[in-house]
Amino acid sequence: MQPKSNVVHLSAYNPGKPVEDVKRELGLDRVIKLASNENPYGFSNEAQNAMLAELTNSSIYPDGASVLLANELATKLGVQRNQLIFGAGSSEVIVLAARAYLAPGDETIMANETFSQYKHNAQIENARIIEVPLKEGKHDLPAMLAKITDQTKIVWICNPNNPTGTIVTDAELRAFLNEVPSHVLVVLDEAYREFVDDEQYSDGVELLKSYSNLLVLRTFSKVYGLAAHRIGYGVGSPEVIQYMNQIREPFNTTRIAQAGALGSLKDDAFVASCKKHNLEGIRYFTEQFDRLGLTYFPAHGNFILVDAKRSSGEVFDALLRKGVIVKGRWANYPTYIRVSIGTSEQNSAFIEAFEQVLQEVTV
Ligand SMILES: *Cc1c(COP(=O)(O)O)cnc(C)c1O
Repeated sequence: MQPKSNVVHLSAYNPGKPVEDVKRELGLDRVIKLASNENPYGFSNEAQNAMLAELTNSSIYPDGASVLLANELATKLGVQRNQLIFGAGSSEVIVLAARAYLAPGDETIMANETFSQYKHNAQIENARIIEVPLKEGKHDLPAMLAKITDQTKIVWICNPNNPTGTIVTDAELRAFLNEVPSHVLVVLDEAYREFVDDEQYSDGVELLKSYSNLLVLRTFSKVYGLAAHRIGYGVGSPEVIQYMNQIREPFNTTRIAQAGALGSLKDDAFVASCKKHNLEGIRYFTEQFDRLGLTYFPAHGNFILVDAKRSSGEVFDALLRKGVIVKGRWANYPTYIRVSIGTSEQNSAFIEAFEQVLQEVTV
């Protein structure tokens, strides 16, 4: 048997080592994971209560269309219910967009260092991938625009960008969208939007009012802390959402996830508190990196990409031996590591270990 030729060479997603494995293998008592941009403060009590209550309905299939959640979010966002689609994480909405819009040989444009799932799913659909270099860690929108042809189907923009943490401004996005032809779908991934504290940052849902060829992605995995339950959503024109609904698995989000998401939306104070602590963490990290003479990209999400000026693989391994898990090995940033913003205790433990590692690993 032979799978499809474009599938043969794909690699499976590398989620990084679980904390328990690292503890056991290295004989460590304390391991901190700052590798997956998870919320160090957990999730709202409102979400917890809603999820526990929903457990009693476990024998009944979920509402495939997530109607209660869709109603609530539609009101909150000021859109129609038929402009929303839910997925098992926004990762699944990426899958749906690629499945619905990319045929073999179609062109799709993305940054050369961004969320891996855009490229991965484009490869599964056998689309032609056009990667545009980031400019100082930022999406180079004019360069991406210049790559659009009649064959282009999707342009992917991650804002803030993972792994660099940079943002494109509202003005830059509008200038770009004004020029994008209407046959091109622009997917704007706002997984980290709740952390952003910059008045030039755009609101993708607001942009939708002017640009119907936009699909905005959001998730409950990051600031809402529900990563385990796999729920995210897309906001777009009714037509785009309809096509994606036609290929969506019937029960792709669970009852627990829908209940948790609904509960989360009741607790703005939790989100505000996480955002505040995150900004404090970013300030702490940047002060420490300045002290250590290291450069980094301006961080707008809940992570920061810092130049360790040493092989990121070696720095990763040395940190791991001290019980700190981060993320490294970016093709375009071979000396950088990405660190999630943790609690203040985790952040100072990271800095302590990192400073030792900078002594141990040669430049
Ligand atoms: C984490 C992340 C997502 C989505 O995660 P889900 O858990 O699938 O919702 C999407 N885009 C980016 C850029 C991310 O970092």
